[in-house]
Amino acid sequence: MEMIARSSRGALIHLNYATAEGSIMLDFISQLRRDYPRLYPDSLPDYMIEVPAGWEGIVRELSASLRNSATSIGQIKQKSANLCAYFEPIDDGSGFEDDLSLSAFTVAEAKAKITCEECGAPGTEMKRRSWYVVLCAVHAAESDSGKAPEFSQL
Ligand SMILES: [Zn+2]
Repeated sequence: MEMIARSSRGALIHLNYATAEGSIMLDFISQLRRDYPRLYPDSLPDYMIEVPAGWEGIVRELSASLRNSATSIGQIKQKSANLCAYFEPIDDGSGFEDDLSLSAFTVAEAKAKITCEECGAPGTEMKRRSWYVVLCAVHAAESDSGKAPEFSQL
């Protein structure tokens, strides 16, 4: 399966699930769907869940916090060094963007802002090529040397 998505660095890429990186991401998505079926309903396409490897723990914690909320995920991704999520109402929408969801998301967003997208170590926001990312010192150095293309670019 192949589809177009944005990499964690924001570049438009072909995300090929046959690659190792693609299958790791697919495993993560499958786990989210299995553990939090209300949050990640079958109607939500896989490509709407695009979480950098270093932020998977943050998204798992967020998902656990939202387990009983009245929202589901419409999209979750990295955008300009920020964790971005769009929520959809469940059922009648009475709990749409309720306090629980918003405060849980604010916590996750703040953690992502200081967490390396590649490995989950403490990181800082920086500009790489023309994209804003959050990287630790190690991955910032790799990124500088051009050694860490996360996905093959179009
Ligand atoms: Zn790192």
